[in-house]
Amino acid sequence: MSTAPYGVEHLDVLVLGAGISGIGAGRYLRVEHPSKSFAILEARAASGGTWDLFRYPGIRSDSDLHTFGYEFEPWRDKESIASAPRILDYLRKTATKNGLDDHIRYHHKVLAADWSAEEARWLVEVERTDTGERLHLTAGWIFCAGGYYRYDEGFTPKFEGRERFTGQIVHPQHWPSDLDYAGKKVVVIGSGATAVTLIPAMVEDAAHVTMLQRTPSYIMPVPKQDALANLFKRVLGDERGYALTRRKNIAQQRAVWAFCQRHPKLARKIIRTVNAKQLPEGYAVDEHFNPPYNPWDQRLCAVPDGDLFKAIRSGKASVVTDRIATFTENGILLESGEELEADVIVTATGLNLQLFGGMKLSIDGRPVDPAETVVHRGMMLSGVPNFSIAIGYTNSSWTLKIGLVCEYFCKLLAHMDSHGYDTAWAVADPDMPTRPLLDFGAGYVQRSLAGLPKQGPTAPWLMSMSYQDDRKLLRDGDVIDDSLHFTRAAARAADITDTTTDATTLEGATA
Ligand SMILES: Cc1cc2nc3c(=O)[nH]c(=O)nc-3n(C[C@H](O)[C@H](O)[C@H](O)COP(=O)(O)OP(=O)(O)OC[C@H]3O[C@@H](n4cnc5c(N)ncnc54)[C@H](O)[C@@H]3O)c2cc1C
Repeated sequence: MSTAPYGVEHLDVLVLGAGISGIGAGRYLRVEHPSKSFAILEARAASGGTWDLFRYPGIRSDSDLHTFGYEFEPWRDKESIASAPRILDYLRKTATKNGLDDHIRYHHKVLAADWSAEEARWLVEVERTDTGERLHLTAGWIFCAGGYYRYDEGFTPKFEGRERFTGQIVHPQHWPSDLDYAGKKVVVIGSGATAVTLIPAMVEDAAHVTMLQRTPSYIMPVPKQDALANLFKRVLGDERGYALTRRKNIAQQRAVWAFCQRHPKLARKIIRTVNAKQLPEGYAVDEHFNPPYNPWDQRLCAVPDGDLFKAIRSGKASVVTDRIATFTENGILLESGEELEADVIVTATGLNLQLFGGMKLSIDGRPVDPAETVVHRGMMLSGVPNFSIAIGYTNSSWTLKIGLVCEYFCKLLAHMDSHGYDTAWAVADPDMPTRPLLDFGAGYVQRSLAGLPKQGPTAPWLMSMSYQDDRKLLRDGDVIDDSLHFTRAAARAADITDTTTDATTLEGATA
């Protein structure tokens, strides 16, 4: 059992991470629980998370900012698909406007947290990333907004002959600020959102950019500026115009996603027709833009104003669909026998998925194995008291879910306060069938599913990807349900110790 070292600081809520989710959580806490003490612990020297970390050319959202932005803070920019600097500016201004700057503690990396059932608080170990110093504090609740991937390294598969290549190899997560690719031949390996962003941005200076993909993705042009959104804002003002556009876009995203799920063949045909119109006459659309999976089984890539297609039409960018046999001194030899010459190779091969910011969790000294937990309302883990996670949508804007989670979290705290509870935890029926947390085909998700928490078959145990369902559950529904337990007495220790589920899994049954 952990005991806090004498004299350590206590926070009512510790928010981990000052990205868009952590800043959002801070704002909800300030407004809904002004008397609670909280701090946002951020491992890096700056806020913004994803939008500060990634520095590759052209870095931008592929969601529209009317749904990616906060519900409480209008997106005022004319461009609804926005560059990272504009998103950062919005985030940082929102933090300042809501009095959060003094709550963010930079260079504070949360390493571990141990729950003391007796004291009803987390003992948290933190590393100062600037000095290496270790410090401790206690927290009544941990709101984990550490994102979903490792910050220290991106994912790069093993490439045969990599050491032979005499040019430069770059991962988008670690973009060298002095990388000079002017007049050079660039090969970008990958076909996801990062690759399709990089190519139109790099063709401006590079001699030629080749997108080398093993498997095509669905790619759709979207307008950079949403004419209707800008009209709404002009006529109704920023606040009401934003709210209306947000409603429109939520409905639109849902409709497109549902259409693709219901009519995958027709959706595929429509996307192909749009792609063919954007590509040069006689282009091999079926070879390079025809994925083996259905639309929205993986995230669909949006290209603002069709910039990727323009780059291809200009002749300065091309797409090659093939497999890598080996890197060579001068580039990449493909399994087809073709060799792609390159001065610079960009490995846009993805992320390494990681939840909880890499923090180790334990309860009274017993390690928590996330894979043995089941997610409750998409934000708590069975058997883990006073702990919530901020995992957004993979089929629409991440932040739509985070807003609902923050609202629910604040209601839960208010419920506990009004009943004098200090501990809340969810109990899953050990016989409940479970399945992987995310039904998403992306490689980085598939590689890590085994170690992640599970989800159950029905609410409140679903990791819902539906804003409409989550609204009903998290915003409009009851704060409590039968699986949520609360205590205020010291005797709770024994209860919690026995409730981490060892539910059987459905993986085999549903395969
Ligand atoms: C290139 C790129 C583009 C994307 N575009 C979109 C998009 O258009 N739409 C969309 O919906 N999603 C997009 N995503 C997903 C995107 O990451 C999320 O939407 C959103 O930015 C996540 O915000 P977050 O605050 O939850 O996490 P993050 O932005 O990852 O922020 C997490 C923060 O927590 C900090 N942290 C982590 N671990 C610790 C720790 N142990 N201690 C202290 N601090 C810690 C990190 O330093 C970071 O600041 C994109 C992702 C990438 C990589």
